[in-house]
Amino acid sequence: MIDTLREFVDRDVIPNVAEFELVDAYPDAMVDQLRAFGLFGATIGEQYGGLGLNASTYARVIEELSRGWMSLAGVINSHLICAQLIERFGTEDQRTTWLPAMASGERRGCFSLSEPDSGSDAAALRCKAAADGDEWIINGTKMWVTNGERAGIVALLARTPDDDISCFLVDKKPGPDGDGGISISRHIDKLGYRGLETVEMSYVDHRLPGDRLLGGPDGLGQGFRWALAALELGRINVAARGVGVAQAAFDAAISYAQQREAFGRPIAQHQAIGFKLAEMATKLHAARLMVTDAARRVDAGERADVEAGMAKLFASETAAELALESMRIHGGNGFTTEYPVERLYRDAPLMIIGEGTSEIQKLVISRALLARAQE
Ligand SMILES: Cc1cc2nc3c(=O)[nH]c(=O)nc-3n(C[C@H](O)[C@H](O)[C@H](O)COP(=O)(O)OP(=O)(O)OC[C@H]3O[C@@H](n4cnc5c(N)ncnc54)[C@H](O)[C@@H]3O)c2cc1C
Repeated sequence: MIDTLREFVDRDVIPNVAEFELVDAYPDAMVDQLRAFGLFGATIGEQYGGLGLNASTYARVIEELSRGWMSLAGVINSHLICAQLIERFGTEDQRTTWLPAMASGERRGCFSLSEPDSGSDAAALRCKAAADGDEWIINGTKMWVTNGERAGIVALLARTPDDDISCFLVDKKPGPDGDGGISISRHIDKLGYRGLETVEMSYVDHRLPGDRLLGGPDGLGQGFRWALAALELGRINVAARGVGVAQAAFDAAISYAQQREAFGRPIAQHQAIGFKLAEMATKLHAARLMVTDAARRVDAGERADVEAGMAKLFASETAAELALESMRIHGGNGFTTEYPVERLYRDAPLMIIGEGTSEIQKLVISRALLARAQE
């Protein structure tokens, strides 16, 4: 499967990214191919029509896609976080209602936790779900909703009357026009991670049937805990994206360093450049091993909070560092849109920010280390 994906990335993605990326156009044909590969159901159980991939294989899928274009990993990732919430914490009725259509890619999902005034401090969110008879009424503004426009189902985190946070399954019409009190209030123009939409979504008196509370009545107040649990796999995914981008940066650097000549020889033969390549390859190798280890722990049912956080921290910082080093090796050419390295340089910082910034990873890692030490 990974070999097939690699061929697709080399043949159909890498030569065509620039055409979509700079103009921020959605890559419909590439996404159709992801759908044909079954990747919208990558981690969804086979009983619901998915591929049922474990974390280790999923991480390799994400790495391979990101080696070609990191935005493609984004197309499936928040969809799969939404699916994972339903599969792990939904009622059987919610699973059979939503998962088969999500696994086939017919219905797209997204994950909506962040707000204009709450990102790292996600528990400070203000979006409200008020009970009205058998229904819920949603009011609030959500920020940074990746895939929000094309999604037909939103895993929405909102504050319920108990002042706790619950997760709702909001079904909506895909498209730019919004639906029954939901509107796409802003398209966010981004530095990188272009081609797929990240939007602000507003809810004004949007009514939801009572059965859209994730997990049924027992799910009241559980949403935040569940979202954090789903983000553990999300961190491995972001770390794997980092490895993919770092690999692309390294591939571009070693290829260019052998072709470009200065002072009578290929620049790779100048020790300063050779040492850069050595350091880049070493960090890339370490990042990949950390992702592999965290994913293996998840697959073995072991606790992986520290390892997933460490993998995310190291791999994302490595991606940013290697993108810059690759640009230096490309000299002036690295600063132009003729070479892919400038896109890698613009894409890499997202991994440092998304699904918990590096600063937040350090908090999570240090707290978990102290808790383990006390145990
Ligand atoms: C392109 C993109 C796509 C996204 N997609 C989604 C999505 O699909 N769904 C979703 O819910 N969210 C999404 N996000 C939101 C993302 O998860 C947040 O941007 C991220 O969690 C950081 O939150 P913030 O932007 O509010 O930064 P802030 O929380 O305001 O942080 C600003 C700075 O302060 C630092 N900081 C904050 N608190 C502390 C602390 N206690 N100690 C030390 N430093 C601290 C941060 O590390 C950061 O450097 C996306 C973001 C981007 C950029």
